[in-house]
Amino acid sequence: MATPLTAATLLAALRAEGCKVVEHRSWRTHNRNHKGPWGPVNGVMIHHTVSSGEDSSVALCYNGHASLPGPLCHTVGGKSGQLYMVGHGRANHAGSGDDDVLRAVVNETGLPADNETNTDGNRHFYGLEIVNLGNGKDTYPAVQYEAAVRWAAALCRAHGWAAESVIGHKEWQPGKIDPHGPVEGRGSFDMNVFRRDVAERLKHPANWSPGTSTPAPSKPAPSKPAPAPTPTLPEGDVKLSDQIALGDWVKKQWPTDKGLTDGRITVNTALGSGYAHSRRAAEASDEILKQLEALRSEVAQVRAAITKGA
Ligand SMILES: [Zn+2]
Repeated sequence: MATPLTAATLLAALRAEGCKVVEHRSWRTHNRNHKGPWGPVNGVMIHHTVSSGEDSSVALCYNGHASLPGPLCHTVGGKSGQLYMVGHGRANHAGSGDDDVLRAVVNETGLPADNETNTDGNRHFYGLEIVNLGNGKDTYPAVQYEAAVRWAAALCRAHGWAAESVIGHKEWQPGKIDPHGPVEGRGSFDMNVFRRDVAERLKHPANWSPGTSTPAPSKPAPSKPAPAPTPTLPEGDVKLSDQIALGDWVKKQWPTDKGLTDGRITVNTALGSGYAHSRRAAEASDEILKQLEALRSEVAQVRAAITKGA
């Protein structure tokens, strides 16, 4: 629970987090506060615009349309990686959602399924609309995704929230699918992965960029190709539902397995298949030992027969 940030504080937090911010028109005073309450704020919500084109998407989110007046969010994330401020205060982005989800966001615990529309989300959430068609084919460039992570982390940091205060519209309101679609280098847009990326940022100072916290090597880079990265588990508490990247050898073993198309599986699945494989290996070695024992007793019988006959 928190009082909403002022426009100046919000801008400073975003810039400190390394966001490239563009101030669009009168965003500081553009809102729907005359239609309902704004705050207390409890979290941030991620959307896709179902549109293409940076300028037209920004204009759409500022103005809204006949059935839904703007602002349609607080910030628009362009494919260029720029973040456009389009509103400050109550905005038409979240609609009515599930009070159980809001409670989980407030308590920063695991999210329940969203199956009710009994709570005003526009009062409680900052909203980011990411420019994407949402058709499952339009890719979110890495620079756009990274900007969204920074935007969410900046708000969490400013309010003292953890990454569990970040949700997707699809986790708030039944029937919503956003954000949806492939993220460059990361598979499908997964809110658990997104929260993990926000959590990683929050472990570092605001000006951190991924890959820069270890000092650069003093020797020049070797000319031979770098070894393939080993799949790593996220640091800290690992949940069974967390997604982990698979090693290349797994993808080669089962190239047609549908669950592996984006190269990621849950920790739960990884542990389950690891157990099954080791069980099968143990059973196979038991069988070999049994056959060896049978062979040994046959040899002993043959030897006894020969000795007797000699
Ligand atoms: Zn949405």
